[in-house]
Amino acid sequence: MMDEVIDTTDLKNLAPGPRRLLKRLRALMADQDNAQKRLDNLTGMIAEETGSDVASIYLARRSGSLELCATHGLRQDAVHNTRLQHGEGLVGQVALTAKPLAVADAPKHPSFSYRPETGEEPFTSFIGVPILRGGRLVGVLTSQTTHERKLADGEIETLQTVAMILAEIIASGAIIAPEELAGLDVRPTRPERFQGGAFSPGLAIGVAVVHEPHVSPVRLIADDPEDEEGRLDIAINELRKAIDGMLDGNRLPFGGPTRDVLEAYRMFAHDRGWLAQLRDAVRQGLTAEAAVERVRNEHRARLMQAKDQNFRERLHDLEDLANRLLRHLDENNTDAGAPLPDNAILVARSIGPAELLDYDRSKLKGLALEEGSASSHAVIVAKALGIPLVGQVEGALDRVETGDTVILDGEYGLLHIRPTAEVSEAYADRAKAISRQAAAFARLKDAPLITADGQPFELHLNAGLLVELKRLEETGAAGIGLFRTEFQFMVSDTLPSVVEQAKLYKTVVDACGDRPAVFRTLDLGGDKVTASAPAMREPNPALGWRAIRMGLDRPGLLRLQLRALIEAADGKELDVLFPMIAAPWEFFAARDMLEAEITRAKKYGHKMPRKWRAGLMLETPGMAFAIDEALPRVDFVAVGANDLMQYFFAADRLNARVSNRYDILSPAALRLFRFIQTSCAAHNVPVSVCGETASRPLEAAVLLALGYKKLSMAASSIAPVRTLLNGLDVEKLGAWLACRLDNPGRTLRDELIKAGIDAGLPSEAVDNSPRI
Ligand code: PEP
Ligand code: MG
Repeated sequence: MMDEVIDTTDLKNLAPGPRRLLKRLRALMADQDNAQKRLDNLTGMIAEETGSDVASIYLARRSGSLELCATHGLRQDAVHNTRLQHGEGLVGQVALTAKPLAVADAPKHPSFSYRPETGEEPFTSFIGVPILRGGRLVGVLTSQTTHERKLADGEIETLQTVAMILAEIIASGAIIAPEELAGLDVRPTRPERFQGGAFSPGLAIGVAVVHEPHVSPVRLIADDPEDEEGRLDIAINELRKAIDGMLDGNRLPFGGPTRDVLEAYRMFAHDRGWLAQLRDAVRQGLTAEAAVERVRNEHRARLMQAKDQNFRERLHDLEDLANRLLRHLDENNTDAGAPLPDNAILVARSIGPAELLDYDRSKLKGLALEEGSASSHAVIVAKALGIPLVGQVEGALDRVETGDTVILDGEYGLLHIRPTAEVSEAYADRAKAISRQAAAFARLKDAPLITADGQPFELHLNAGLLVELKRLEETGAAGIGLFRTEFQFMVSDTLPSVVEQAKLYKTVVDACGDRPAVFRTLDLGGDKVTASAPAMREPNPALGWRAIRMGLDRPGLLRLQLRALIEAADGKELDVLFPMIAAPWEFFAARDMLEAEITRAKKYGHKMPRKWRAGLMLETPGMAFAIDEALPRVDFVAVGANDLMQYFFAADRLNARVSNRYDILSPAALRLFRFIQTSCAAHNVPVSVCGETASRPLEAAVLLALGYKKLSMAASSIAPVRTLLNGLDVEKLGAWLACRLDNPGRTLRDELIKAGIDAGLPSEAVDNSPRI
């Protein structure tokens, strides 16, 4: 853009004003003069076009001061000598608030700071606007007059537009080296380390890929403002239609924004203030893209200063909306983006499970999320794919750029960006240690499943993707304790047919051989969305129309799935698990449907399962307290600890702010687990625990001590859990727990870790390895 050849002949025909100013600006930028000269000329030009006596540019240095870098009207020897401290004077006020400031009589303003070296005594009126880039403050542009004056319409906007273009000149680095300036997107070079949550194990060393990166406009100044306004209108209409389509057509994008966020987008996309700001910027001569950028910059600067998390959330929403609008403006828009490098480590604010599945799995080696929680479905999918995932690395997106080298340590929840040579070397050693451990784990697969005091236990696999089936052999799992059938629906644009479903289930049955496989019926809803199944507009999806509720209200889908499962059993035993049962009658209705399908299959002479069982997935406290009513008709119970704990503590499992707040090892939660186990035992109904809780060694040990002999978990957890359980004295732990479970308390975790072998734990249960 800077080197375009500009025809300046039409400049004379334009009246003074913002458009002419922009045209002149473009001509100036095309000039080969050095950057300082350009800034000097620019201040002269601004003064002339806005009818002011002084125009000055102050740039924000990293040291915190604002340096006068060019001026028309103040003394030239003050340039690069006058420096204002943060918040000092009117210029400092503009910088502090990142908002324009207009003052009729500057010397009388309480923030006025007198600098004799600039010779500014005679100037009265003052306008200052922030120079922003990517929402960060780069400097301040000011305009002053000797006489008091009334602010002309649009004068501040004009200066804001000029400031935006100025930011680009400054970013070229020719005035002051970008490293010395605050607020510039200088490619970061320093190593950064973030400690987050270790949500999916493994180690990945690779190249960062930022998910949904910020899109910056290429052209800033319009050739033809009328055309630009037309382009803007078309893009806004398309944006609105796209949002309406997602909301009204009940087709939420895979893993994309939630309904609430989309509702907020719809509101913004119709917001008169936002649209007027965009239109004004275009009318002043910016391209539609630059107008979006300018308005976004201003919002960003303001919202970034907000302490309140809700404002920061809105900032993300606005960013996303602006990116969407930019995509509508880009005629060559292909959503594909750059190809993934072979060892990509994705860095995202948050990601939905289906969106994650959209990435090329052979190239995706790791995932870092600014948000995320241990039991979110993105984490479950990452585990299923065997991809390490570190969550809750807040601020990582501000420090990382696509192409940076990163190390993702899923064992300890660490993310290293641009690691130093020493860190990289240490990780080379760690990688060797991890592969030694993996080899040791692999050898464990045939070890007896028995505790140190001789109690047998069973470890099963949680799965949902075909790639996971090979883990059965690798881990020596006793079977599949939970097959999440909805994953097939989530990766498909259309509803999988009975034939397609049966084919997938048969592959699972075959892979299990003699081992059992528990198929959970569709558990859609919450964060699990699909383009092919109905979705309702709901204020609170986790408490909404999901899983079995959907299945019973729209029995067509469930019936077909049961048919496919019966067919896939192919004469073997069939275990069907119904999710999110909140009351006994729901289970009875689901079981009746299964019975009806069995009867139908018999009637049509289909091959019958040798035996079939209907399982109740216990995921709500309400169901736990009604379990005695249901058990007479239940063949097995699987405790879905992720959801059960989400509802028990009323803490959204997807919300990083509350997901870690409560501990399952609190006496109250453990009492619930004990109650469920003793109820099932009294009715002689087998009970297992699946969900991420069972996959953590310490928690698994506690569950075993409470009487749960069967646990189901992600493949990567089987060996670590087995290692701990093999060394556990269950009886001792049971006794240790028994005299503490009925006491009040926030958590038993610390006490348990401290007790160690006195509580029956093997001595190596607590990991004290150093973190790099
Ligand atoms: C659970 O809720 O514990 C569970 C295993 O199901 P999901 O994580 O798929 O909701
Ligand atoms: Mg669940």
